[in-house]
Amino acid sequence: MKLRSKSERFDADVVLTKDEQRVNTTLMYLKQQEYAREVFLPSLPFMSVKNKIENTTLFKHLKKMPKGAVLHQHLDSMLPSEWLVKNASYRPNLYQYQGKFDAETPYGTFKFFKNPPGSLWISVKELRSAAGNVTAFDKSLVELLSTNELAYDASIDYWSKFANFFKLADGLLLYAPVFEDYLFKALSGAVRDNLLSVEVRALGGCVMYDLDRTYSNLESARNIQRISDNVRKLYPQFMGVRIIVEMYRGISDIELETYILGTMIPLRKEVPELVVGMDLVGQEDKGYTLYYFLPALLKGLDEAARNNVTLPFFFHAGETTWGDESGHAADNLFDAVLLSKRIGHGIALAKLPTLMEEVKRKDIALEICPISNQVLQFVYDMRTHPADALMANGVSITISPDDPGPFGYESVVYDWWMAFVAWDADLATLKKLALNSITYSAMSDVEKQISTAIWQQRWDEFVQAVLTE
Ligand SMILES: [Zn+2]
Repeated sequence: MKLRSKSERFDADVVLTKDEQRVNTTLMYLKQQEYAREVFLPSLPFMSVKNKIENTTLFKHLKKMPKGAVLHQHLDSMLPSEWLVKNASYRPNLYQYQGKFDAETPYGTFKFFKNPPGSLWISVKELRSAAGNVTAFDKSLVELLSTNELAYDASIDYWSKFANFFKLADGLLLYAPVFEDYLFKALSGAVRDNLLSVEVRALGGCVMYDLDRTYSNLESARNIQRISDNVRKLYPQFMGVRIIVEMYRGISDIELETYILGTMIPLRKEVPELVVGMDLVGQEDKGYTLYYFLPALLKGLDEAARNNVTLPFFFHAGETTWGDESGHAADNLFDAVLLSKRIGHGIALAKLPTLMEEVKRKDIALEICPISNQVLQFVYDMRTHPADALMANGVSITISPDDPGPFGYESVVYDWWMAFVAWDADLATLKKLALNSITYSAMSDVEKQISTAIWQQRWDEFVQAVLTE
C-alpha cells in the first residue's frame, strides 16, 4: 500500500527482518479489524472511544512495544483529574476559591495554605462535608478539572477550558507533598509503557511550593531530578527526565528577556544536563508571535554565548488549523525553523511545501501529539491529521501525549494506537517513530547510544514475544 512513494517516506530506510515482517503481518491484521468496525474509532471524540481502544489486542501489543522517549509533555498535565481528586483533594490545608470568575483565579481554583488569604477561599474539607453526597461532590471536582468531553460541542471553546485547567489545578498538583507522588506515579507509568526517557515542559511559572514558600526554578528543577532518580532506583534502565523550560507566550518581551537573562541562563550554567532548553507555550493563534520575541531571544543567545553555555530552543509552532497569511501561528513556523532544535506540533507545515523542504534539509523533527490535536479541535477525524502527509513527504516526526491529564488519560500508548490505526503506518513506521524519539531527544550522544542499545534489546524481545503469542 505504501509502494507509491515509499522512497520519499520518513521511514524509507527501515528494512524489516524476517521476524519483524511476521510481526508486521500480525499488527496489520489487527489494524484491518479496526477498519471492519461499524464506525472507525479514530473518527470519533477520543473520550468516547478510549475504553474500546484499551481493550484491543493491538493496544496490548503497543503497550509492550519499546517506544523510546516522550519528547513533548507538560509537567502540570501528566495525570488525569480522577487521580488529583483522589490523591490530592483529601489532604489538609486545601482551599477552593469561591469568588466570581476572574482570569487569574477562576472560580474553583485550588491551593494549599496555612491560612487562606481571604474569606473567598473555603476549606475543601468543609465544602465536602457540607455537600453531603461525597461521590457527587468528587465527581463535580473531576469534571471541573477535565477538558475532554464524550461528544464534541461545537459551541464550546475547548482551548479556553483547557487553559483554565492550569489555573485551577496547578495549586493542587504543584504542592510539594502532592507533587512527590504525582511525578513518581507519572514516571513509573512511563516506564511501564516501555519508555526510556521523558522530556517535560516545566518551570517558568510552573514551580513547586509548600505551606511556607514558593520554590525557585533551580530548586524545582532539582526536585524533579530527585523524584526521577527515585524512579531510576527501581528501574535502572530508565534514562530519566530532562526539562525544557516553558514560558507563557502572553508575557511581554521585556518579561521574557528578564527571565532569560536572570533565570534561564543561570539554569543552563548550573544544571545543563537537566535543563536542556526553552520554549514558549499557550494558544498560538492568540499569543505573541516568535517574531515579537525575537530581540529578547537573540539577546538571550548572545548572553548565553558570553557565559559559555548554549540556549537551545524547542518551540511550539504551527499548532493551528490556519495556513500562512491567514493567522500568525503558521508564520511562527518560519521563525521556529530558523531558531528551534525541534518543533512542538508543527501541523501547519503540511500547508507550506517550501518550508517543509527546509525542515527536512535542516533535519528538524516534529513532536506530533495526535490526541491533543483532536481534543483541542485542530483535527476532528484522525485520518485527516496532517502528520500522515508529513510522514509521506519525509518529515521526521515523533509521537507524544502533550497534556494527557486534562484530556482524561495518562499513557502515550493511546497516541501510538491512533497514529498506527488512522495513518498510513506499519511496523517500519512504528520502529522509525521509536528510533526518532531517541535520535532527536535532548540526551547527550553517550546517553543516546546507551538508550539505543537498551531499546534494540527490548525491541528484539518484543518481536519474539509477539511471535510466540
Ligand atoms: Zn504542548
